Amino acid sequence: MLTTEQNSEAQADNLIIAIDGPAGAGKSSVAKALSEQLLIDRLDTGSMYRAVAAAALASGAELHDVEELIRLANGLEVTGEGRCLVHGTDVSPLLRDAATNTAVSVVAATSEVRAVLVALQRSWAKARSMAGVIEGRDIASVVFPDARLKIYLTASVEERARRRSDEGAASIVRRDAVDSTRAASPLRLADGSRELDTTGRSIDDVTNEILSWLK
Ligand code: C5P
Repeated sequence: MLTTEQNSEAQADNLIIAIDGPAGAGKSSVAKALSEQLLIDRLDTGSMYRAVAAAALASGAELHDVEELIRLANGLEVTGEGRCLVHGTDVSPLLRDAATNTAVSVVAATSEVRAVLVALQRSWAKARSMAGVIEGRDIASVVFPDARLKIYLTASVEERARRRSDEGAASIVRRDAVDSTRAASPLRLADGSRELDTTGRSIDDVTNEILSWLK
């Protein structure tokens, strides 16, 4: 059991900023701006699920072959530049393919894959002395429930579709529906998360508001 003093020291050391929200809510742009302002690293956990999905598609694996998905997830490495290698193969160019957009929701709904990736996300933060901006769907609810700041970004569906015009509105609406209704760590507003609607707001404006919450 930690004493109150140890506990507040642990709190003071914790500079985990957890950002969740649906596709196109602005998570990546805001995470990038926050990491630049605060001089801490950022982790895009969506790219980790995408990497496992892309590697499965590239090897012709069956998406319901849980053992194979676990094997691929165990081979994932995120480099310092944010590139994703799976058992040494760089799958970064495949992460935004239409086929990956479709397959990723299936992979992400597999709790065994989530367990492997959540462990990687926690070691990523530990290796950075618990300082980092981490974005995804379950970061505040599951991965870092004790994060210093927990943020849930939203935006209107029209604006989110505009921001992700390369993917298309139908695909983001479908992904959001699967992500919010799955049994394993669904996308939701976590206890203690602050909800922020980014519709019609600039990245700087949203980033400055979040920075003001740290003071
Ligand atoms: O953030 P991005 O749109 O790249 O995420 C791709 C997909 O990865 C999401 O639609 C979701 O299925 C999955 N994901 C997840 N948990 C996270 C991050 C992403 O399930 N923490």
